[in-house]
Amino acid sequence: MRLLEEKIAADGMVLSENVLKVDSFLNHQIDPQLMLEIGKEFATIFAGEGITKIVTIESSGIAPAVMAGLYMNIPVIFARKRKSLTLTEDLVSASVHSFTKNETNEISISKKYIHENDRVLIIDDFLANGEAALGLVKIVQKSGAEVNGIGIVIEKSFQPGADTLQEMGFRVESLARIASLSNGKVTFKSEKMEETVQ
Ligand code: 5GP
Repeated sequence: MRLLEEKIAADGMVLSENVLKVDSFLNHQIDPQLMLEIGKEFATIFAGEGITKIVTIESSGIAPAVMAGLYMNIPVIFARKRKSLTLTEDLVSASVHSFTKNETNEISISKKYIHENDRVLIIDDFLANGEAALGLVKIVQKSGAEVNGIGIVIEKSFQPGADTLQEMGFRVESLARIASLSNGKVTFKSEKMEETVQ
């Protein structure tokens, strides 16, 4: 998605060889217009999958997931990282090791909102090692529903998450794919492909 790549190139900050900071439009301040375009793109990509629910994880997956839900006209459920006083019903949980915080969280969703006949699209902001997405896959499958797609805003393709999920048979669609963050610079997979074509 060219608009997203342009935004990353203009506003993203490379913190290390492995970490990209996008606090100005996705992870802290949110650009609603860009999120709307992202939602539209996910809705187009997964249009033929008969998706009935979107599942994401708090907090940074919520904005793109809600916009996709708006276009697809389906509900969005976000997995919670902390126990909540109001989330007391039967919960389905999985444990997820956070790439950026280096801590393990138990993430949970109420059984009330995912059912056996649901066809689920998982959405998240970043894909690195695939821990967050795999945790969401486990929760969806424990609820008896089917995962019919995984939509990622920014995939770091040099880390193993995308390959792992694809090898497991999931359809993974990422709107921006980063080939490298070396030398303080973002190189997109699309640029690498252009280089080989020339
Ligand atoms: P994974 O679980 O795939 O290893 O990592 C994905 C999760 O870690 C995402 O939900 C995201 O919050 C966070 N994350 C991973 N890599 C990055 C990164 O380079 N930048 C930011 N801002 N978050 C990241």
